[in-house]
Amino acid sequence: MTTTESGGPGASCAPEPAPRPPKATGGPYARCVLCLEPTEYAESAKGIVLCPVCEWQEAQRNACSG
Ligand SMILES: [Zn+2]
Repeated sequence: MTTTESGGPGASCAPEPAPRPPKATGGPYARCVLCLEPTEYAESAKGIVLCPVCEWQEAQRNACSG
């Protein structure tokens, strides 16, 4: 049986753009939820905020390897 139905999310190799809060133009900055380093986002930013490093690593993880 060959069901080649790829309708699920993440079926493609295209990394889905995660909703990110607008970058803050000044402090205080929110801390990265992973490494607690200061991010580029305001402290009042809602949701998960990541520093540029963790953001990049997450993008690599979500990207298709191969
Ligand atoms: Zn981080």
